[in-house]
Amino acid sequence: MLSGKYPEETNHWLPYFYSPQESPIFFKTLNKIGAVFPLDRLPSLRNLAVGQTRRFILKQGVHINNVPFHIIDKVTLYPYYYMHELPFFHELKEQLQKKCQTSLTHIGPPKTRKHLYRSLLKYIRASNHEKELVIAYEDALDGLGHKFGPYSPECLHYAKSLDRVLLEVYQKLAKCFGKNLTFFVFSDHGQCEQTNNLNLLSELDKKTLNLGDDYLCILDATLALFWAKNKDVEEKILEVLGKIRIGKVIDERLQKKYHIRFDDKRYGEIIFVLNPGGTLFPNFFSSFGTMRGLHGYLPEDDVQKGLLISDKKSLYVPRHVRDIRNFIVNVFSQET
Ligand SMILES: [Zn+2]
Repeated sequence: MLSGKYPEETNHWLPYFYSPQESPIFFKTLNKIGAVFPLDRLPSLRNLAVGQTRRFILKQGVHINNVPFHIIDKVTLYPYYYMHELPFFHELKEQLQKKCQTSLTHIGPPKTRKHLYRSLLKYIRASNHEKELVIAYEDALDGLGHKFGPYSPECLHYAKSLDRVLLEVYQKLAKCFGKNLTFFVFSDHGQCEQTNNLNLLSELDKKTLNLGDDYLCILDATLALFWAKNKDVEEKILEVLGKIRIGKVIDERLQKKYHIRFDDKRYGEIIFVLNPGGTLFPNFFSSFGTMRGLHGYLPEDDVQKGLLISDKKSLYVPRHVRDIRNFIVNVFSQET
């Protein structure tokens, strides 16, 4: 969304990837601890151990707290998670400055979560940039959807209050800036109510495929990446995945369609994704319960779709989530 490019163009897709040589010392140390204390047999304790250790050592990055200790040193995580921490944010900042003499500011978590819109208005009132794109990032609605489900009373109640707050913010800003204001509301995904779980590791266990010895994998909640020891194992994994009716393997044709053909195999030799409503559980993020709402399915699934609302027309019509950046830059360029 921020880069304006497809994943294969930036070699950047998921927040985790296979790269033992780049694995942080933190993970290498945990791997050694896991060899001494067999915490892999006690997933809840493992989850706590990784989560708590991470709090002290790694402040940023995605919280992948339930990776088995014996393969944890094979996974690498990007040391960033939030929008403004990504390299594409800084790149967009430079481009906006250079092309449209526009500043870029981010307001939101982890620094500002409470009183987000009050902070936004306060910031805008005090800012003296002539042209500025201020992104207020809101993650509370997503969090409620994960916890209670996207159609839960908790989620709907918050969505309605968010709608009111956004209208209020818009009216206040429009009063102040008149036609000099451009207002966008956008998201990069939707969310789906959870209906079924799949224990993928146990399906592979049944075929005597051993994690760590025969293959490596990263199990996300809706997506799984695999690296097989040899062709034989690869075929066996594909056979197991092929029998699962609630998901599909992203084969070469689909990889081309979704622009996820990478130079190396850092995002998996085999990529498997669940149909909407499914959860891979347990997964490498958590061993505590399942979430009520999830995203991370195929882009044409309705539940996965994001939104873009704007008070300005643009010559550029966004058709893909990556177009949001191009849409924004286009709106600012038109005004220059
Ligand atoms: Zn989410």
